[in-house]
Amino acid sequence: MLSVIVDHGFQLSNAFSKNTKNILIRHDIDFNIDCALKMAKLESDLNFQTNYFFLSESPYYNLDSRDVRMKIKYIQEFGHKIGLHYDDGIKKIKSFNNQKNKLQTSIEQEITVYSQHNPSINGFKSEKKHGIVRDIFHLNEEFKTTYLSDSCMKPRNEFFEAFETAKYIHLLVHPEFWILETSTLKDFEKALKKEMSTEFHQQIRNHVRIMDRTLKRRSKLDK
Ligand SMILES: [Zn+2]
Repeated sequence: MLSVIVDHGFQLSNAFSKNTKNILIRHDIDFNIDCALKMAKLESDLNFQTNYFFLSESPYYNLDSRDVRMKIKYIQEFGHKIGLHYDDGIKKIKSFNNQKNKLQTSIEQEITVYSQHNPSINGFKSEKKHGIVRDIFHLNEEFKTTYLSDSCMKPRNEFFEAFETAKYIHLLVHPEFWILETSTLKDFEKALKKEMSTEFHQQIRNHVRIMDRTLKRRSKLDK
């Protein structure tokens, strides 16, 4: 898909200009940081700089973990921008500022762009409510942007039609759907479980190996 975008003469930019075809690519990371990292590398190889939005309270990745912080750093080093994928769910959700502070603390940088998690479930909340400087949705109003999204694995045919006709595009891509190369939600669930459990099992194995090595030296260490 990335090469199709290039072939259609789009400028890839977060700041649209009136004279060219523009596309802004946004990635909301709902599940898996490794898929995000793989996509970030793929894009960087093609000289694409895009935007990655992370949840602060994901059940699947932990911003306090060193591994996750390193991976976000690698994504930045590929030239991509980091933003907050804020959750406006009703129950037991930390405030917007709390979520923002957590991500800022984790990456040790100020966050200035935001995208909302599950707006169709929780209701779209405007940037005014949170005093947001720049919600990524701003672009839609300014430039009459065509918004394309692969949310819930929506079929992608309309993407390719829009590349032919639209001038300003805001494209939301969830890396997991593309990196795991599945075409149905059922297959996606299976592939994602496998991907995430492999990673988790690897971490457990590493930890147990360290314990095993330590145990062999235990009598020496205890002296
Ligand atoms: Zn989301």
